[in-house]
Amino acid sequence: MTETGKSVVSIADCKRYHYDTIRESLINIFTPWNSLGSFITAGQKVLLKPNLLAAAPPEEAVTTHPLIVEVLADMIREIGCKVYIGDSPGNDREEYTYEITGMKDVALKTGAEILYFNQHNTEEDANAVDNVYNLTGALTDMDLIINLAKLKTHSLTGLTGAVKNTYGCVAGKRKKKLHFEHPLPFDFSRHLVDIHLLVKPVFSLIDAVVAMEGMGPRSGKPKHLGLLIGAENAFAADLAAAVITGFKPNQVTTLAVARARGISGAVPGDLQIHGKEIQDCLVKDFDRGLASDGNLAGLLARFPLVWLRNNMNRRRPFPVINIGKCIACGKCSTGCPPQIISLKDKLPTIEYNKCIRCYCCQEFCPAGAIDLERINIRRSHLHEQG
Ligand code: SF4
Ligand code: SF4
Repeated sequence: MTETGKSVVSIADCKRYHYDTIRESLINIFTPWNSLGSFITAGQKVLLKPNLLAAAPPEEAVTTHPLIVEVLADMIREIGCKVYIGDSPGNDREEYTYEITGMKDVALKTGAEILYFNQHNTEEDANAVDNVYNLTGALTDMDLIINLAKLKTHSLTGLTGAVKNTYGCVAGKRKKKLHFEHPLPFDFSRHLVDIHLLVKPVFSLIDAVVAMEGMGPRSGKPKHLGLLIGAENAFAADLAAAVITGFKPNQVTTLAVARARGISGAVPGDLQIHGKEIQDCLVKDFDRGLASDGNLAGLLARFPLVWLRNNMNRRRPFPVINIGKCIACGKCSTGCPPQIISLKDKLPTIEYNKCIRCYCCQEFCPAGAIDLERINIRRSHLHEQG
């Protein structure tokens, strides 16, 4: 933060995923703080926390690109630190996810150690670092965390960037339980913000070289933006990402929560931009998908009224199975917190009257076969049964 109370956000060109291009871009990103060395000291254990939402290859833009993790791991190692890479993917194939996303290769090339959060501890683990969210015990041994997020649209929160990325520090079944207990975007986002403030990464970097637009965070389309965004304050980094992609700050529910709580970095006046001018980065044709209703989210921040919550809830879309794309793998059923997706004749059927619209099914679907639509549930339910 500057002397005037502004949060510094650094934006740098990074036109492609190429080692030297990324390295030059990262040097530019850290310039406002002199260098990466301002955050870390030789001998420290540094955890890199990428977004490893699913077992998807880098070109699908679901996960943080492995070359960014590789370059940063090299730069940290050169300072004399031990590097770790960790996340808890939203599936039960943790090791496979590290392989497909390219993280195992990164570990091999850089000597970084992979921390399998889901294996490290479960919600019952006595070593968990806090009592409320049971953050993975893998964090306990780390001296500091660098947050390596991916810029994507998100069905529940509008946009996922730096703040939401720390949700991956909640390991195992606890994540599913939080979705189940707090299905509304604004309520859920309160927990995302609390978790982020507990994890406290020293720096957040957003991979916006190729972002995801449309039906994110799992089934959207890759969109080339050619940028890296970095900040000490993750809310500020997310706000810059939101402005660049055309979101109103209140359409990103984590920012709406932060703004309601007076957390710095959540309103445009809080930002001090370095590097590229934000006006030169705007992406006018970015498909923001069916983002949650920002105006209502903003009103909720000030007026937590029951009718307002109901109004917001009524407008939220439902998941709809695209039978033409479905490969009948059943992963949506496994990932559904209230367990209301059953497989009939190998095809999934949703009990819509019990759907909490958490969109976990969409995140679990490897085939992009779950769309979101604002539908009349009674009609679709009849349609499904007929
Ligand atoms: S069907 Fe999908 S959106 Fe509905 S509760 Fe299950 S996982 Fe959540
Ligand atoms: S996860 Fe996707 S592909 Fe698999 S059964 Fe569900 S809808 Fe079909």
